[in-house]
Amino acid sequence: MADFSVPANRRAIEAALQKVRSEFGHEYDLLIGGDRVKTTDKLRSINPSRPSEVVGIHQKATPELASRAVESTYAYFPEWAATSQESRVRKLLAAAQLLREHKYEFDAWLVCEAGKTWPEAEADVSEAIDFCEYYAREMLRLSGPQPVVQMPGERDELRYLPLGVGIIIPPWNFPLAIVVGMTVAALVTGNTVVIKPSSETPTVAAKFAELLLEAGFPTRSFSFLPGSGSAVGDLLVSHPKTRFIAFTGSREVGLRINELAAKTQPGQKWIKRVVAEMGGKDAIIVDGDADVDKAVDGVLVSAFGYQGQKCSACSRAIVDARVYDQFLDKLKKKTETLTVGPSDDPSNFMGPVISENARKTILQYIEVGSKEGKAVTGGGAAPGDGFFVKPTIIADVDSTARIFQEEIFGPVLAVTKARNFEHALELANDSQYGLTGAIFSNDAEHIRRAREEFFVGNLYVNRKCTGAIVGAHPFGGFNMSGTDSKAGGPDYLLLFLQAKSIAERAG
Ligand code: NAP
Repeated sequence: MADFSVPANRRAIEAALQKVRSEFGHEYDLLIGGDRVKTTDKLRSINPSRPSEVVGIHQKATPELASRAVESTYAYFPEWAATSQESRVRKLLAAAQLLREHKYEFDAWLVCEAGKTWPEAEADVSEAIDFCEYYAREMLRLSGPQPVVQMPGERDELRYLPLGVGIIIPPWNFPLAIVVGMTVAALVTGNTVVIKPSSETPTVAAKFAELLLEAGFPTRSFSFLPGSGSAVGDLLVSHPKTRFIAFTGSREVGLRINELAAKTQPGQKWIKRVVAEMGGKDAIIVDGDADVDKAVDGVLVSAFGYQGQKCSACSRAIVDARVYDQFLDKLKKKTETLTVGPSDDPSNFMGPVISENARKTILQYIEVGSKEGKAVTGGGAAPGDGFFVKPTIIADVDSTARIFQEEIFGPVLAVTKARNFEHALELANDSQYGLTGAIFSNDAEHIRRAREEFFVGNLYVNRKCTGAIVGAHPFGGFNMSGTDSKAGGPDYLLLFLQAKSIAERAG
């Protein structure tokens, strides 16, 4: 990760921002089976820090074009599946190298299209590079025959085969890392894909699609298909030639995809596989003997980094009664020092939320929350043209409150008092979600119990609950947080493969 306190790095990202700005308003094509396609209906992505600025103009796919994309990607699948694993791995490493070479430019696109601050953008791009490097090596591990028990008189083998056509549906909040991770995992394992980017951040995805071509991925190995999820999503998911769907996004859309994919269509020959990573309502427990200052810093950055728009963001702080007042007082003071404004200005800790609609929803939640608990700080829009929201803390929130149970996806933190550790653990697990969680504690027995009983896919002890690192913290959640695919972990590529067992005897 680039350190932006180093003058050379600052100069590099400033130059990249200038270059990216000069490309604002450029029009991007759909890529379908090697053809560049234009439509009459366009999608405009805007800069959430300055909504009058159009970042990119994109074609809006129609159901007919979506169907064409699946068909042409399906037609190329046998050829791509037959290429050597080594050659696919080499292309992926070339993509990683290109991402490294254009890192500041990608940072700048993320700043302008997703409203990420410089360090948040840099983390997103770094994660994208890590995914490429990690899955390339994972593919080498899974290439060729896998070790199995040898029966006397037989040659026994197990090898992995790709599945077919995958539909890649990412969210906007990690507009590079998530689209890259899901796409390259599918491609390096020998599948062909249709990429349906988020309508909020299609330019970042279009830049990545161009990079895939530059890295040597064949034009027909993937289709790039921006368009409204509600207009083309159902067709892509239910198409009989679709073999799997890799989705990351909200619980609502994930469940719909899961349901639709389960319905067998005429002509369909397989059970579709759905990898769905969904929402979170992540809690940090602050134990009675915790280092309160460390806990405040951990909660602050987890709750308000990228405006709370991370599936891993802390939206519930559950604090032992012994340190509750002290914690709240310190957290309030620190939160009030956070700066909110355009994300291209590095003096701002927080940028805008993604859209006017998102801001509306968040402000409605703040209104509801202010009745359910006690508004401590924030509580409304922040000044400026962009979609700015003040970091908001609502204290004394009961576990039945909507703001305790529902994912808000914005800079809103509910703080709840726990009678003791037992109660804190019970509150933390009182959720339909189970993505990330953290505990700040110095009590070895409490930490042991959290390791056993805190029901989340990613648990952190004495640190923030965001910022999973590929390879170190395989990522994915329990219950309504999704299928626990553990992106960036050793089990991930298996989701894009099927195993064939071969037993051979002499004829
Ligand atoms: P979203 O509204 O569910 O959208 C996700 C993607 O689904 C977008 O590309 C969207 O396209 C598409 N889509 C919408 N309707 C569809 C349909 N009927 N069929 C197929 N695709 C459809 O989520 P979001 O607002 O982009 O992202 C925020 C959510 O993602 C939060 O809930 C967050 O917790 C979750 N998330 C989870 C993880 C994780 O790893 N668990 C990571 C990041 C984010 P359009 O943009 O065109 O509508």
